[in-house]
Amino acid sequence: MENRGEIRAYDVVIIGAGPGGASCALALKDSGLKVAIIDKSDFPRDKVCGELMHKKTVETFNSIIPGFKEEFTKFPKTLVLKHTKMHYKGKVVTYNWEGESYTCPRIHFDNYLLNKVKEAGNIDVFTNTTPEKFITDEQGVTITLKSADHTFRTKILIGADGVNSAVAKQLAHKVINKEHYLGAVRTYFSGITDLRSNTSEIYFNSKYHLNCMWVFPVEGGKANVGFGLLSSDISKKKINLKESFYQYFKIDKDLGEKFQNAKQEGPLEGFGVAIGSVMGTVSGDRFLLIGDAASLTNPISGTGMGNAVVSGKLAADQVKECFKQQNFSATFMQSYNALLDKQIYKDLVASYKATRFLAGIPFILDILFWLAQYKWIKKKIQSLV
Ligand SMILES: Cc1cc2nc3c(=O)[nH]c(=O)nc-3n(C[C@H](O)[C@H](O)[C@H](O)COP(=O)(O)OP(=O)(O)OC[C@H]3O[C@@H](n4cnc5c(N)ncnc54)[C@H](O)[C@@H]3O)c2cc1C
Repeated sequence: MENRGEIRAYDVVIIGAGPGGASCALALKDSGLKVAIIDKSDFPRDKVCGELMHKKTVETFNSIIPGFKEEFTKFPKTLVLKHTKMHYKGKVVTYNWEGESYTCPRIHFDNYLLNKVKEAGNIDVFTNTTPEKFITDEQGVTITLKSADHTFRTKILIGADGVNSAVAKQLAHKVINKEHYLGAVRTYFSGITDLRSNTSEIYFNSKYHLNCMWVFPVEGGKANVGFGLLSSDISKKKINLKESFYQYFKIDKDLGEKFQNAKQEGPLEGFGVAIGSVMGTVSGDRFLLIGDAASLTNPISGTGMGNAVVSGKLAADQVKECFKQQNFSATFMQSYNALLDKQIYKDLVASYKATRFLAGIPFILDILFWLAQYKWIKKKIQSLV
């Protein structure tokens, strides 16, 4: 290997400081292990996202960051949501949730989380640092950097570097399967008619079947607006996602009326979503994948932050066990795979199969909106989301 100067040695190196990486780091803060977190971006940085967070996500954060829920819900950038309005052909079905959900712009939220990691005091944080290669041997993993005179060395590596994870590509040989991947776009709007800060809205249109346009209120009287489609459909039907986004306002009367005086704030940005509809390789000799790197987004709701946090916590438990038993082998990591399967994948795979089945039924939206008049069916739909 060429000489890369100083070697910075750690017990655990986490690649990626999004919700998954940050929660894994925080779950390791009292482990006595020497931990570093590396991110290619400079923080605060944005991440294309709908920015909706379920109650369960906030509760999971609360279990690793004492006092998180109280602090987060009072955070000036956070909105507390209690209702969802679903629109289709002039019909509106309103869900009044028992538990709250939240929105918080990722540029603020992820920075807030990373500050919590820094405040822990015993985790080394390297932002604006891009790894190049991950080289595994019997004693650990060497991480070379794209432009630096030093390398990192770790006994165990956590891949928390999102949907295009370099760790997953290099160590788990992950390739994108378009049947299990969404293309999605989102932007912000102000001046939306009757936008309520406690209500998320979803617009369905028969042209896009079960793929809907979301309108999630965010701080400052704006909304996060976007939609996504299965990548295989985008390729097969040669769809231009950005054009389709703007067309949606023209073909959907309800949406068009709501946005007739609205002003777009910022660019329309695209990003991939790796849905957890099939469990690929999520661990191996001396590495574990978490969050989007392990493809853990819900195929129905498109939410992935919660599973990023849960997997971050499970990975931290696995890391502690590896050091206790001094075993970093792929075979030993199978217990992490089993927990991930039980706690996350099983539900995601079932949701994926259900959506694919429903997507094959003609007039499914008409049927679902007709059925929603029955309370117990509405409750069932509510429990699926
Ligand atoms: C359009 C869209 C809408 C969505 N809406 C929602 C929603 O409303 N609610 C929800 O819960 N989820 C939503 N998701 C999914 C959600 O964004 C992800 O599931 C979540 O961000 C996953 O967290 P993570 O920590 O695994 O990865 P990320 O949040 O992607 O963080 C990865 C981190 O790794 C860094 N990184 C990337 N590559 C490298 C590298 N090679 N080296 C070093 N660092 C690297 C990045 O800079 C980033 O900081 C949406 C996704 C999209 C695309």
